[in-house]
Amino acid sequence: MFLADSGSIAVEVALKMALQYWQAKGEKRQRMLALRHSYHGDTLATISVCDPQNAMHSLYQGYITENLFASVPQCQVNSGQDDKKLFDHWREDDISEFRTLIEQHASEIAAVIFEPIVQGAGGMRFYHPNYLKQVRALCDKYNILLIADEIATGFGRTGQLFACDHAQITPDILCLGKALTGGYMTLAATLTTRHIAETISKGDAGCFMHGPTFMANPLACALANASLALLEKNRWQNQVKAIEKKLWRALSQLKESPQVADVRVLSAIGVVEMKQQINVAQLQRQFVEKGVWIRPFGKLIYLMPPYIIQPKQLTQLTDAVTAIVNS
Ligand SMILES: *Cc1c(COP(=O)(O)O)cnc(C)c1O
Repeated sequence: MFLADSGSIAVEVALKMALQYWQAKGEKRQRMLALRHSYHGDTLATISVCDPQNAMHSLYQGYITENLFASVPQCQVNSGQDDKKLFDHWREDDISEFRTLIEQHASEIAAVIFEPIVQGAGGMRFYHPNYLKQVRALCDKYNILLIADEIATGFGRTGQLFACDHAQITPDILCLGKALTGGYMTLAATLTTRHIAETISKGDAGCFMHGPTFMANPLACALANASLALLEKNRWQNQVKAIEKKLWRALSQLKESPQVADVRVLSAIGVVEMKQQINVAQLQRQFVEKGVWIRPFGKLIYLMPPYIIQPKQLTQLTDAVTAIVNS
């Protein structure tokens, strides 16, 4: 486990681990295969695996490595259903573009990187666990490392402790952040297998080449320990279920609104997708006037409340969203 100072750096570290692993094995593999609509951070290497339509690619063109991208299908989530019925039907050709890319470029791909089940800042999109299962199987078949970026989804946010658990898969490298400290201080972590760590250490460099000054900052680590101790009390499952129920009951009514394209809820994540681009500055001011802090982007208004939120507070949030969408 490598502790880093932010989520972007945790992903940066994951990419460097993959590159150093192949270098130690004497293979030249320097490309990443990522997913469209993904978000992995704001540093230059992480931008290179973010959605290629994202404005940042053109802004820093020439500086950003060109990676490979596959589409992921959006899927409906049946909120409030038991786990077996949670995700809607799966079509085998949903994975075909990904499979073609991996088949064509297998010998140059160092790693596949994805945000499992929920793509966050790239569009708050939910997708099917079968996609993850197939990605894992294809990575195994072609001997490619798999990086799961669970910085947003980790620690119960999607209803499982980790979103990869929806598909019962294990990544080779895992990135964690955000809820690791409950949001009180910045800290992130990149975890990998003993095999990958030892392979890297046997390479020419002799160790993994990254050393942040404030690595494992003691205050941040103390906060993470406190936050993880709360999580281990295992109240999060009921908290997340209660949040999902309330989010769905309140937000699903907005489906009828003519301005709304889609409403989707998965565990402690509620999303209202509008048909038109949102005037963010204006909406944010209106939200603040209603006493809530909500940060919309693009066409999306979304809620990811802390698990300890009280029913009354959650109602205040959903009431504010409802009032503003209908205004
Ligand atoms: C927030 C986020 C990051 C970046 O984390 P920072 O701490 O903001 O640098 C990376 N990946 C995902 C999936 C995120 O949600």
